Parts: sequence; C-alpha cells; structure tokens
Amino acid sequence: MKIRFCGAADGVTGSCHLIETDRYKFLLDCGLFQGGRKSEERNRVPFPFNPSEIDFVLLSHAHADHCGRLPLLVKQGFRSQIYCTDATADLADIILRDSAYINQREVEYRNKKNHRLGRKLEEPVYTINDAIEAVKYLSPVFYGQKKEIRDGITVRFNEAGHMLGSSILEIWIDETGKDGKIETTKIVFSGDLGTTGRPILRDPEQIREADAVIMETTYGDRVHPPAASGIRELSEAVQKTIKRGGTVVIPAFAVGRTQDVLYYFNRLYSNDPDFAKTMKDIRVYVDSPMAEAATEVFKKNAQDYDEEARDMLMEGKNPISFENLVFVKDVFESQALNHDSRPKVIISASGMCEAGRIKHHLKHNLWDSRNSVIFVGYQAAGTLGRLIVDGERDIRIFGEPIHIAAEIFNLRGFSGHADREGLFRWITSFNPVPGKIFLVHGEQESKKAFAEYLEKKAGIKPIAVMEESSADLSEGRGLRRVSPDKRSEKLDELISLREKLVKIHHGLEHILYTTTLAADENMTSDRISEIDEIISNLEKDTLNLGSAVTDFGEPEAYQAGEEPK
Ligand SMILES: [Zn+2]
Repeated sequence: MKIRFCGAADGVTGSCHLIETDRYKFLLDCGLFQGGRKSEERNRVPFPFNPSEIDFVLLSHAHADHCGRLPLLVKQGFRSQIYCTDATADLADIILRDSAYINQREVEYRNKKNHRLGRKLEEPVYTINDAIEAVKYLSPVFYGQKKEIRDGITVRFNEAGHMLGSSILEIWIDETGKDGKIETTKIVFSGDLGTTGRPILRDPEQIREADAVIMETTYGDRVHPPAASGIRELSEAVQKTIKRGGTVVIPAFAVGRTQDVLYYFNRLYSNDPDFAKTMKDIRVYVDSPMAEAATEVFKKNAQDYDEEARDMLMEGKNPISFENLVFVKDVFESQALNHDSRPKVIISASGMCEAGRIKHHLKHNLWDSRNSVIFVGYQAAGTLGRLIVDGERDIRIFGEPIHIAAEIFNLRGFSGHADREGLFRWITSFNPVPGKIFLVHGEQESKKAFAEYLEKKAGIKPIAVMEESSADLSEGRGLRRVSPDKRSEKLDELISLREKLVKIHHGLEHILYTTTLAADENMTSDRISEIDEIISNLEKDTLNLGSAVTDFGEPEAYQAGEEPK
C-alpha cells in the first residue's frame, strides 16, 4: 500500500493524499492551494493521478484548503462518492460555490487588464457550475458510525473539534498478503485537529490505535495562550476602540470563525457588564453572504453541538445570535458602512484578507488611528493579513497605497487548531505507538520543530513530509498489523493485566524469600513446606492466567511479529 502526499506537503494548504491499495485508489481530502497568486497557480497544475481512476474521496472537513479542488476533480473525470459528515456536506456546498465565485470574479478583473494589454485571457480554475456538479457527489455519513464503504474498506468519522462537521478519519483497509491471507491495515488521518473547550464544538476524539497516522502540524512549534485570555483581550480591544469613537474590523473566515466570534460576543453581552454597557447601542455587522448562509447551517446542525451550546438552545437561546447583530444584506448596504462614521463592529471575510468584502473595509478603515483591526485567526505566509500582523505599515489594496494608522490586535487564544501541546497529547495517546507517523499540513519549520519535540519528549520518531512525495506502507520497520481493532484493544488490556500479576508474583516471592532467611534456624520444616505451597500455588495461577491471555489471539493479531509494547 502506498501513500502519495499530493498537497499540504510543503505548506499548510492544498490538503490531498492519495492512498493506493491492491484494489483501490482513493483520496483523503482534495483541497485548494491558498495564500497569494503564486500558491494559487498550483491549483492549475494537473493532478499527479488520473481523477477518473479515483474510487472515492474521504473528506475531513469543509474548509477550502481541504475540499476546494473537488470541483476540479469532478471536472476532470471523477464520478463517485465523496464521503463526509452531514454538516461538512452542507458547509462544503456553500464554500465551493463561494470559492468558484471569488475565482471567477478575480479572473474577470485580471482579464480586463489582460485585454487592454493585448495579453492572453485567463480561464477561472473552475466555475460555479463545476462547484454545483461536485456537490452532487457528497455522501454524508454519521459521526461514530463504522461503515463498510467498499468490500474490504471500512471508515469511521470522529469529532475533530476544529469546525462544525470536522472529523478525524479511521480507515481499515484489507489487502491480500503474500501468503494469500487477508491483512488489515489501519490508517488514521487527523484532518485538522481542534482544541479542547472550543465554543459550540465538542472536543477532539482520542484515537487509540493505528498502523499509520497522517497528522497536521499547523502549530507544531507554538503554544497558544488559554482561550479565556483571548476572550478578555477581545473584550478590551473592542471596548477601547468603541470608546474612542472608532470602528472595529474583524477579518474572520465566514465558516467557523465568524460563528465563534458571534458566540463570544453573545457571551460577553451576557457575562461581561462593562462590555454590555459600552456596547449597548453599538451595532455588530456581519458582512459576508457566505457567513450568513453558514450561520444557518450551524442552526440546522445542532446535533453536533457541545453540551454548553445545546443547553443554551434548550433554554430557548440561540448561542450564535444577540440583539445588536445585523447581517448585511447586499453590496449597497456593505458600501454604506464605509460612509457611516458611527462606532461599530464589522466582521467580514475572507479571514486572511485575500478576497471578499473585508478588503474594502480595510481600505476604508486602516488609515484612521481611531479604528482597529482585530485578527482572530491564522494568517498564512504571503497573505495580506500576514503582512499586517507582521507590522507592515505601508501596504497596497486594489493597487492603492495605504498607510496603516489603525491599531492592530493579533489575538491568539481563538485558534481552531491544536497547538504543540494539543498535538503532542493527541499523538502520544495512541497505545501502542503507531508504526508510522507522517507530519503534514504545517510550514516547514513547524513540522521540523514538532518532529524534534516528539523525539525529545517521547522518543517517537515521526516522518516530517517536506515535499510532494510517496511512502510505502507495506514495508518498513515498525509497521504493526492489527485485526480487528476491538479484539486487540481487549488483548492490550489483558496483557497489561498479566504484567501486573507477574510483578505482584515477583514481589511476593521476594517477601517470602527474605522471611525465610529471617526465620533462620527457628523455622520448622512444616512451616517451610507451607510457604513453599503458597508460592507454587501463586505460580500456578499466574502461569494459567498468562497462557490464557496468550491463547486469546496474540499470534494472529501481531502477524508482523512485533511484540506489543
Ligand atoms: Zn481547517
């Protein structure tokens, strides 16, 4: 079996991994490359496989860098199921149309210039019709359901706590071994891992076993401050700006982060009296058509909420809404905001300031020192958002030079991605250590730093994937075959029980031995035989239990011949 890393191999975007077994070819994600023109050009490079030969796709979640090349895949001949959760299917529908729309608009804009200069006109990467076509292949499955999707391929989607519908994938793959016997290999794909205690979402699921793990490392070299400090900073930054008569601009991904921010505003209005007082008559605008549609999907998929958000719903409160919230209806209303001098909050997309209405709001607000821009999400290298958080003061938007006078806040407590400690906890919870661990979806320094950290702290040597490349899963040291998983989970428990008993046995033996020595000559021969009998009975019991555990299936479950650790 082979894995080919076709995206998110040398950076964080374009997530796409091809698995080739003896019978099937399938993809884990099929995402867009993002982050500036140069990265986006990579979306035009042909896939390193024939899309019509792909048997199915497993989609971890609906962010464009994970699902954004699906329309391209379908356009080039893929005609089969794209498995994902319900909420992912709903959100991917919105995101794919939006990504097509943005691309079409950008190409139209560039073509005006191309036309004037007598240059060759560009084609969009894909159109809205391509997106609509791709959405037809989305095939929702339930969280936690173990589903055999092909003969010999079983999958389970587990909560990843990263965005609504996001999943960690468990995949069991049967292949025929050299001796003609069926061997099962289990691959775990982390998708994007969230943090514990995220608003609305449940915590990421811990997976116990895998032969191979493919995991993200977006923040493999960083530790987030606690979320509570982020909420406090948000409250302070917003109030500070409003009190000096300014406008707060919050660039936020339309899907996920915008709803997080709405949830935090809701909580601050209810629980922070200072905030509620300052913000009493202040309007909070969400200016992104996609964000409004996504908020509707959130309302529809309350089955995926965590307990806190569900409790609020049960009390009749909407956790992502509040009195002062206004969804901007159209472009005219959006433009009107730029001529409204009253203090206000504008939440708009895209989150990295690369496209969408946020660019207009930045253009109209960055020059004024009363205003502020509050970043609440990851800013990839090469994006306008990254330039601003890195402290650049003179930038260009739509070709116009702008000097930044507004106050810039970069709040780190809101990340949708696990930090180094979260990633470490997740991967070290596997027991035993997976045979192979591939680090993807991180900038090069982050992957390197996390690989070093893992080796230093836990003695685990992962493979940091640095470029588009392949890896063989059939061979190589340390690959452990497991079949089937429930049984070996029990086996692990029994083995550790046996180890415990052996330890107790050794301890007792030691005590009895030293007692005998201490008894010296005063010990009668009857007493000695009594002690001897206790020892041999203990020995017998432990050995019986030991062989019972071994008979339970150790030889079959550990076909690769490696002893469990
Ligand atoms: Zn994501």
